[in-house]
Amino acid sequence: MKMRRLISLILKETVGFLFLRLGGVYFLKYKLRDQPYLIVLNYHNFSEYNNYRLKRGKTLKSGYGSNFNKQIRFLNKHFQFSYPNEFFGDKTTSGIHILITFDDGYKDNYDIAFPILKQHNAKVIFFIVTNIIGTNDWLTHDKLRFLVEKKYKSENEVETCLKKMNQGHSIATWIKQNENLIAIPEQRLMMNWKEVEEIDKEGFKIAPHTHQHSILSFLDYTKQEGEIQTSIKTLESKLKKICNYFAYPNGLYNADSLNVLNKSAIQYGFTTQPGFNSKENAPLQLKRIGVNASDSIGVLLLKLYLNRKK
Ligand SMILES: [Zn+2]
Repeated sequence: MKMRRLISLILKETVGFLFLRLGGVYFLKYKLRDQPYLIVLNYHNFSEYNNYRLKRGKTLKSGYGSNFNKQIRFLNKHFQFSYPNEFFGDKTTSGIHILITFDDGYKDNYDIAFPILKQHNAKVIFFIVTNIIGTNDWLTHDKLRFLVEKKYKSENEVETCLKKMNQGHSIATWIKQNENLIAIPEQRLMMNWKEVEEIDKEGFKIAPHTHQHSILSFLDYTKQEGEIQTSIKTLESKLKKICNYFAYPNGLYNADSLNVLNKSAIQYGFTTQPGFNSKENAPLQLKRIGVNASDSIGVLLLKLYLNRKK
């Protein structure tokens, strides 16, 4: 397993490095010269566990700030940061536009990303799970992965369990069986409202990602409506402004989700379907490319190139 990871890392890094050095960024621009594109990048957190390059680190340890700074500098140098309304609303737009998004509302987004993003005038949307902001609670996937870090469970078992959850199966029995193991530290992993408000005041966008990170496509219409509208109302009452954006937990949604968003006056919905967005894209089904703060510039560029026009 370790050997396979090492080989795949070396391969990825070598191909990425060569692609970058051989003018990959200009090649990408050439390939995308036919019309304007909006590339939405999707980050989560800076945890050394989730951004691991070779070996998973600690859930509660965040790093890669200087690498993230390099990524943002690179994007700023070669492309243009834009919000969706700037991209879709301006008839004269051309070229490649970048929007940065962060899902879930992790505290390290405030500690590490916020100062860097400010420095580079990036356009960023932070999607937060309104019920968990300011608490010491953790999202289910972080709780489960913590079991791997503690070596209580194997990575295979936990990842299989998470995959099941993402496919709509209940993992309640599994959680019940392992309840005694899931004792998370009394430590805040997510942002609090003061931090959220500070980011908002700086001009970045804060937007809902449901109230409890429920996967919408597994809920009936009324429950979806509750999850979506509670998160919108909570945010609007805290920040005293209207929300235009929404990100689907795990990227999953159905016709009911779209109907609720339409009814709630949300203009732009963000999936996790990889690809670039053109002006013809349905605004409630925007594509995003998953990236890590630990990705080298070569690997980041390679991810963009491989996900173009899907
Ligand atoms: Zn999420």
